[in-house]
Amino acid sequence: MTKKVRVGDIFVGGGESVKIQSMCTTKTSDVGATLAQIGALEKAGCEIVRVSVLDEADALAIGKLKSGINIPIVADIHFSAALAVKAIESGCDKVRINPGNIGGERQIKLVADCIRAHEIAVRVGANTGSVEREFLKKYGKNEFSLVESALASVAALEKYGVEDIVVSVKASSVPLTVMAYRLLASKTDLPLHIGVTEAGTEKMAVIKSAAALGALLVDGIGDTLRVSITDDPVKEVWAAKALLRAVGADKNFADVISCPTCGRCEWNSMALANEVSEYVKDCKKPLKIAVMGCVVNGPGEASDCDIGIAGSEKYCVIFKKGEIVKKIPADRAREEFFGELNGLLND
Ligand code: SF4
Repeated sequence: MTKKVRVGDIFVGGGESVKIQSMCTTKTSDVGATLAQIGALEKAGCEIVRVSVLDEADALAIGKLKSGINIPIVADIHFSAALAVKAIESGCDKVRINPGNIGGERQIKLVADCIRAHEIAVRVGANTGSVEREFLKKYGKNEFSLVESALASVAALEKYGVEDIVVSVKASSVPLTVMAYRLLASKTDLPLHIGVTEAGTEKMAVIKSAAALGALLVDGIGDTLRVSITDDPVKEVWAAKALLRAVGADKNFADVISCPTCGRCEWNSMALANEVSEYVKDCKKPLKIAVMGCVVNGPGEASDCDIGIAGSEKYCVIFKKGEIVKKIPADRAREEFFGELNGLLND
């Protein structure tokens, strides 16, 4: 199990639930726009938000942002120890820095002392684009250079007594991401932030992230995650929530099981499956609901579902745990099914 680290009012690692993270696309010093975006992210289920700090105005804006949000805020700073110190003093809950580019040993110590004094967390790590040159030379561009580079950043802060560290090793390649995190998890018990970097636009980004992060989460690797998408960051949160549900890390939701249909299907089960999915999308009750294409195979194929419906041209059946409990004419199927479903949802 990884070490538990406090980030603002929440904890990551140590068996805590995997926290969903995203990043604002607004200019941080535009407090109104950034607050609006964080508000939308929070509403979607984001649990930790990161903002870029490029100048003093961004660093100082963190204090104003803090009073208008309810989730921890992470300041992402590169190349300037002074900005990192300003962001920490401004009230961020965690900093994302790279000790290798912060300006040398004195600057690393300066930031490390500030992190400890304010008792906040820090994330360090390596992306394929930021691996330290010595490790690239030694190993080439692979999981070994990523992990060694990330662990060197950890050591650079531990040297000055920083303990609450989260680590990441991101690549845009799915196999490399998986291999790097598996290697990293075997070498440290610090909590890991997992993600595929530069994953692309929505469809491919979601698939790449599901492939890489899904494999890692099933292995028990990952304490916070981000599904990076070149789009509205709210989409990152929706995708991360769905991913946590798909791998069983979040069981408190209504899972809609629906068959793809085939030549045996004689009714519009696709339309009902979509309608039911939309209806229960915010449900936090652990339920399995089936919408199946045919009466012959449906109840059997979805036998572990709490409730289900399967249809034919003339009639539908409602079943519970694989047993048929009602047979109804097709034109009353939708109404009867929603009646039964509401009974379970409100139980
Ligand atoms: S449940 Fe029936 S309609 Fe759906 S895929 Fe199976 S056999 Fe085909």
